[in-house]
Amino acid sequence: MWVFYTTEVNNKYVYLSSLPRSGSTLLSMLLGSHDNLFAAGEFILFGQALRASSSCTCGSTIYECDFWGTVIHKLNAKVPTRGQEQEAGRNFETLVYPFDFRKSLLQRSLIKLYSYSLIHRNRLLSEVAAIPEKGYPFRMKMAFQNTLAVLDQISCCFSDPETIFLDSSKTVTRLNQLYMQNPFQLKVIQLVRDGRGTVNSWLKSGSSSFTETVNSWRFHIKSHRRSLKKIKPENKIRVRYEDLCTNPVSELTRLCDFLQVSYQETMLRMEGPFHMLGGNPGTMENNRVIQLDNEWERMFTQDQLTLFDKLAGPLNKELGY
Ligand SMILES: [Zn+2]
Repeated sequence: MWVFYTTEVNNKYVYLSSLPRSGSTLLSMLLGSHDNLFAAGEFILFGQALRASSSCTCGSTIYECDFWGTVIHKLNAKVPTRGQEQEAGRNFETLVYPFDFRKSLLQRSLIKLYSYSLIHRNRLLSEVAAIPEKGYPFRMKMAFQNTLAVLDQISCCFSDPETIFLDSSKTVTRLNQLYMQNPFQLKVIQLVRDGRGTVNSWLKSGSSSFTETVNSWRFHIKSHRRSLKKIKPENKIRVRYEDLCTNPVSELTRLCDFLQVSYQETMLRMEGPFHMLGGNPGTMENNRVIQLDNEWERMFTQDQLTLFDKLAGPLNKELGY
């Protein structure tokens, strides 16, 4: 039986804020190779991983993984038998999508109220929005409390209480929620990449047009920017993917200073094993060598470059490109 509860989390918590295909796996592996850091990958996917018995990046399923298996055992989770996965997953959400709740006017209003409360860090409003038990905000509140319950167990698994927990969930909603609830001292690493590189990568795996993809990139960057604006300067740092690839030592040293740990040369070797959620061993292998991906320079036509500049040039410039 799952129990929902809030708890104090003692470990330092670092949130990686970035868009997909911006080098977050590489950065997570580099940081996760530090003796005092644990890289959990997309921690927000824990509930989904339970339901689907997903693979950890170490190659085992999360139930069989040395790390997550212990955490699950501590949480008193039962391995769902065939046909019960859905039930187990429903009982332990750590991520809830708003898309499933947009059918009625009440749900849409609750989502709006909840989003407003997150953006403006208004805890009281978020509590009000979470009153109806079938509403999206209620489910989000449960998912967040579940996340804290997992974190509580994770901190018991670390032999060193000073271990820093790196959450590469990336989403803005989670970041806003963490900041509003403020359960612990939160630091944020903003990883950015030249928008043309990210767009090129998205185009290869998606079916949207060039214009739609650039607009999507612009929308998400603005959303991250709005969220990060409220975080105190001493609690956030920006890293550019390109700098990380070309000057890994100086960028990692800068990050270590920010996290108040000493730089370790072993980070560059990325030896693992890594126990990250939301990745797979193949992706990890591809990232084990630091190599700058600037493919967009060859792929983009002059027309596409002009269109990108017109749609997103100023925003890209704001990020230093
Ligand atoms: Zn593992």
